[in-house]
Amino acid sequence: MALTDLRDVALQEMTTMLAEAGEPAFRATQLCHWVYKRQAISLEQMTDLPEALRQRLGAQCYVSTLTPLRQQLSADGTEKVLFRLEDGNQIETVLIPAEDKRTICVSTQVGCAIGCRFCLTAQGGLVRSLRPAEIISQVLHFQAPGKTPERAFTNIVFMGMGEPLDNFAGTVQAIRTLTAEWGLGISPRRITVSTSGLVRRLEAFGREDLKVNLAVSLNATTDAVRTAIMPINKPYPIAMLLASCRAFPLAMRQRITFEYVLLREVNDTLADAKRLVRLMEGLRCKINLLPFNEIPGVPYRRPSDDTVQQFQQYLAQHGLSAFVRQSRGRDISAACGQLRFEEHATPRLTDPAHHATMPAALGAQGEHVGETAEAAATRHEGGR
Ligand code: SAH
Ligand code: SF4
Repeated sequence: MALTDLRDVALQEMTTMLAEAGEPAFRATQLCHWVYKRQAISLEQMTDLPEALRQRLGAQCYVSTLTPLRQQLSADGTEKVLFRLEDGNQIETVLIPAEDKRTICVSTQVGCAIGCRFCLTAQGGLVRSLRPAEIISQVLHFQAPGKTPERAFTNIVFMGMGEPLDNFAGTVQAIRTLTAEWGLGISPRRITVSTSGLVRRLEAFGREDLKVNLAVSLNATTDAVRTAIMPINKPYPIAMLLASCRAFPLAMRQRITFEYVLLREVNDTLADAKRLVRLMEGLRCKINLLPFNEIPGVPYRRPSDDTVQQFQQYLAQHGLSAFVRQSRGRDISAACGQLRFEEHATPRLTDPAHHATMPAALGAQGEHVGETAEAAATRHEGGR
């Protein structure tokens, strides 16, 4: 029987699991405390659980960790970590320090099925979705022992490899654990989920009522251009996407962020800026402009700084909050769209001192989750 990864299990399920073993409910709270607050990686560490219970749980459960293979530090302070998963697949996670915040950019899938033409992650297609544990472990990696989550980092964005809503169950459960009191206790207002616009999933995501921030990768102002650069626009064109954004539940003062990758002479003209202003009418939103980060093998180019500035100014002059997102960590390929999985990467540790403090992975006891039904359905919906 495959062992259950405790980082995959919510308090409620732990309670049920323990009740079946005749244990009182408070044991589940104790277990969660060990797994998330104390970051225990073995049952032996959970010293206030009775020995007999630890033995019994040990036959059923374990705690997974990620193995950091490589850490790279950018000149601008951005840090990128390449992790090995239990099945040998690899993902990247980025920590972006800014003046007033430190943001972790987490991956939700190995690769991505959505196929946006300007994104490196898309190039290998989708390998598989991550389990909730694998998403949570990326965050735990950046949580220094003894510090509260808020001290170690301030924000989390689901903007790494993969399409979060294509890994719907994994993303939702990871967010529940990250935000729950029994979990990491992070405020949902400090979490942003970015989607390429899987409309039906977006509506379902709204119904989950997680209270996290939403970012939508719009990236174009006409269906012709958007379909050319983002095939997901075919089943879910702009009008449909924006209608579901208008219906998305927002708290007071909460706004949807629209991301807009600026590609030279593709979507960076004044006519685009004008259309964008019209499209955003009546939406509580802000615009994040992302000057294209060039990637190998892709013919698009980054617009000049002047063009970027003019685009931003037009939006600002017409009442939109528009920001140019600085490309952080470009020297280590950690910027938007530059993350990828390395199929045949040679494990390499650039920072052995740090690795020595990291728990080693516990081996391959976990059950590998293949491509989710949702992923397959979405690709089907996407007509690709
Ligand atoms: N799959 C999700 C989240 C990950 S991508 C999504 O698409 O929203 C995060 C952001 O990076 C998206 O807004 C995407 O449009 C942007 N992006 C992808 N490739 C890029 C590139 N080469 N340069 C700049 N931004 C890019
Ligand atoms: Fe996937 Fe997002 Fe990249 Fe598109 S931009 S391929 S949805 S990761």
